[in-house]
Amino acid sequence: MAERKKFMEIVREIKKWKEQRNALILAHLYQRPEIQDIADLLGDSLELSKKARDTEAEVIVFCGVWFMAETAKILNPRKTVLIPQPDAGCPMADMVTAADVLALRETYPDAAVVCYVNSSAAVKAVSDICCTSSNAVKVVQSLKEERVIFVPDRNLGHYISRFVKDKEIILFDGYCPVHQQISLADTQKMRRAHLDAALLVHPECPPEVLDGADFVGSTKQIIDYAAKSEKTAFVIGTEGGVLHRLQEICPEKQFYLLQEEILCPDMKKTTLSSVRDALAQRKHEVTLDPEVIEKASVSLERMLSLS
Ligand code: SF4
Repeated sequence: MAERKKFMEIVREIKKWKEQRNALILAHLYQRPEIQDIADLLGDSLELSKKARDTEAEVIVFCGVWFMAETAKILNPRKTVLIPQPDAGCPMADMVTAADVLALRETYPDAAVVCYVNSSAAVKAVSDICCTSSNAVKVVQSLKEERVIFVPDRNLGHYISRFVKDKEIILFDGYCPVHQQISLADTQKMRRAHLDAALLVHPECPPEVLDGADFVGSTKQIIDYAAKSEKTAFVIGTEGGVLHRLQEICPEKQFYLLQEEILCPDMKKTTLSSVRDALAQRKHEVTLDPEVIEKASVSLERMLSLS
């Protein structure tokens, strides 16, 4: 009871500070349920990027990981962008540096560089175009170059290569530790356990997991697929935070994770208290070198102009 009272008090404080600061709270679908519930907009990277670019709010509070808050700042540099948990990073984004991209450019001077949005601002600044898991195939198909360097996710890059046959795709060896540990054995086990369920997976999973899936898509695309499908049971191959939204919009359907727990520790760092404190104290503001913002915005805006 006392816990509940404290919880409600923090939610009230967040609402109060949000109004006073003219703030917008954006949250990724992998965030804790209580963070998803207080967000003004919940979405995958593409949706959140568009909202960050177009908002009239003075302050953007980004409940996600570091590269997402950076993306909001790049797309709307005049706004104050706060990240409640500045130590929430992305191990995959950290696997590639701007120096890695520049070295690849030297090796393959005729290639275009496509960076997954899960990358630092510095990497975006030396790339030609950015992509998300929603639009990666479309972005690569839009390029005139016959050779494409794709960083950092080798699994997403491999997935793109299944659809883009007229280009050579040079893969970087990065991966998401959360999706990488999902295995073919998991899909076989869950297929046997839930014979009528559809298997929906994220393209950050290894290729053999994608092979056995009924649908491959971003978190938002997985949610849309489950909502529209006539099926009533689904096995989900992505971070477990997505179940909160799935159960909310499809309460009559059954959802099972491919593994008992698929959890991104960084995505779970943000708490209601950290959101309240960031708003109340205007702390953990994202600041970036103006030159990096200018260059990185070119690759992001080029992507957004396609959708
Ligand atoms: S789920 Fe994977 S790609 Fe997403 S933030 Fe966590 S580590 Fe990075």
